Amino acid sequence: MLYWVIRWLLLSPVLAVAAGPFAFRYDPANQRWTLNNGSIEAVFSLSTSGVFAHERLTNLDTGDSWRASPQNPSSPIRLTVGGAIYGPRTQYRLVSQSAAAIPRDGYRQTIVLEDFPGQSRITLDLEMFAGQPVLRHAVSFVNLRPETVSVNFADMLPWIFRDENEQFRVFRVNQWDPGGARAENFETASADLPSNGRSFDIFSGTHGRHCGWVALRDSDNRGLFAGWEFNGRARAQVRQTRAAGTLQLAASVLELHHPVDPNQEFRVPASFIGLFRGGFDEAGFRTQRFAEAALAKPAPAGGFPYVVWDSWGYALDIEEQTLRANAETAARLGAELFIVDLGWALRLGDWQADPAKFPSGLRALSAYVHSLGMKFGLHFAFAEAAADSQVLRDHPDWTSSENGNYFGGHSLCLAHRPVRDWVIQQALRMIDDYAVDWILQDGEDMVKQCTKTTHTHDPADSNYANSVEGLDAVLAEVQRLRPNTYWENCENGGNMMTFQMVRNYVTSITNDASGALSSRQAAFGVTYPFPPRYSDRYMPEQELTPYVTRSFMFGGPWIVMNRTLEMSPESLELAASEIALYKGMRDLIRDGKVFHLTPRPAQDRIDAIESYNAAADSALVIVSRPLDPDDFYLLKPRGLRPDNTYRVRFQDDVRTYTMTGAQLASEGVRVELPEPFSAEIVYISPI
Ligand SMILES: [Zn+2]
Repeated sequence: MLYWVIRWLLLSPVLAVAAGPFAFRYDPANQRWTLNNGSIEAVFSLSTSGVFAHERLTNLDTGDSWRASPQNPSSPIRLTVGGAIYGPRTQYRLVSQSAAAIPRDGYRQTIVLEDFPGQSRITLDLEMFAGQPVLRHAVSFVNLRPETVSVNFADMLPWIFRDENEQFRVFRVNQWDPGGARAENFETASADLPSNGRSFDIFSGTHGRHCGWVALRDSDNRGLFAGWEFNGRARAQVRQTRAAGTLQLAASVLELHHPVDPNQEFRVPASFIGLFRGGFDEAGFRTQRFAEAALAKPAPAGGFPYVVWDSWGYALDIEEQTLRANAETAARLGAELFIVDLGWALRLGDWQADPAKFPSGLRALSAYVHSLGMKFGLHFAFAEAAADSQVLRDHPDWTSSENGNYFGGHSLCLAHRPVRDWVIQQALRMIDDYAVDWILQDGEDMVKQCTKTTHTHDPADSNYANSVEGLDAVLAEVQRLRPNTYWENCENGGNMMTFQMVRNYVTSITNDASGALSSRQAAFGVTYPFPPRYSDRYMPEQELTPYVTRSFMFGGPWIVMNRTLEMSPESLELAASEIALYKGMRDLIRDGKVFHLTPRPAQDRIDAIESYNAAADSALVIVSRPLDPDDFYLLKPRGLRPDNTYRVRFQDDVRTYTMTGAQLASEGVRVELPEPFSAEIVYISPI
């Protein structure tokens, strides 16, 4: 029997591998791959003439299919190397193909191709994850020529679909603008995509304008979303050309000039494309669940997002006695992580504690924080150094050619190998010396621009080199060697909002301590592309009201900056009770679907944001009233099951209601907001 099974497998015209929900099939007669995870199906083929192309992507839940255009073939390989273009017209031969399970409940199809002249070997990885209607894809190139060649163009998101004569609506989200010139704070932008070929652009990565993500849907709410895993600057485009019948996506690495020696490899940063049906809340939800399942740095065990105390309320004026006293109060209020922000070190680049500020040593403060049951965090602007720091006195050439002027410092070029190795050593020593559980990364523009000819990177390749071989490599090595120290992304605020950031950090700052309204505005925008835990918020308000505290509750870690020694007893009491509330809701929000119930928060109108948790069939809504003249909000929560009966209760209002999901959706429930600058929390749970 076994013999016949093996014989059948060997002779079978289709090689199928299946495990769990995955069915990845290769048909050698037609050189066609059909990849299926029960949620979506993707089909690729290598034609008899050697053209490798994508055929279709189908949402198995809805039956929606996104098909390639026969006249304008779509290849997942799109790069330019040494003047040669690799794309949908290139002819390849198949070298090998295989499929295997990968971590995080995923499955990977690997296809290795060689071009006809034998100058390039291209490896394509296509990945799916259980329950996720998403295809992740990554391309790498090996130079088979005897000389060094340069990669000058790489498209992370090379997709062309038939437009099916549809009209599309596109959606993107701004980043925080740390310079303040544009004053951008995660505004969303939705627009009709022109059908004349004019592109809708996204400029992503550090010092870019937009989050590295885009979503679009047609008039029937059939939608696509995509993200790319690159922290450097990239330009993504969505373009419909009605005359050609195409809808094209692209995301190119800017200023790419990467030399590849013979037999060496170049990796195009990975990306993902997913399918949804519905509005942009649904696009965000599908993106977020995929990111949590497949990409994101796993959150620390135990309660997360944390309640955090951070010393920036004192700016640079910190020393051990003040910090000890604040640590004691912070622990009593319920903080779980205590961060010493900028100002602890001798100077930028000299990452040793200042003995004048810490006569007992920083390790003693760390031990005291630990004794209070909190984790200990440190600010670390590792790519910046003061002119008089030891590192720049020893190595004046380690600066990047462009300076971010972070607190008067000079920027270091992480793409220069000696700098990268030095930063890794500094991080490891700092973590060990001070028993650091958490690093608050900071700095100005984390992917430096550098055209120096004296560095180990190509002077024209700074964007890719500083991102992939600089920043990413530093984080990978430190995290490999110190896996229990968690990293928070910050660069004067959330200015590197990418899916590579999500892979490297457990959370990210949104805006930079800009107050209650600004906090809600940032959380509103960032909770489209990113899981809620990637929106931590620094609360600068010294005196607290429920309007203030509840403006910081929705999202990732809640970071209080209060000078607790100067707080009124009322504020301290309120802080403690509101922190307890936050701890009761954070799991629900972390794993829930975000519904943006109102337009973006503004000073003159009520805003409401909801999290619906399908596993618990429960919703939580935070409603805020700044200066709106209305003293109530008619809440119509979304996501509830129409036939189920729910109990509705409020944090402050003593009323309770029993209503069905259908009643709540149609009639709504009245949320009282008696005063300007008030806020209410609504809890909806099944009976
Ligand atoms: Zn450099």
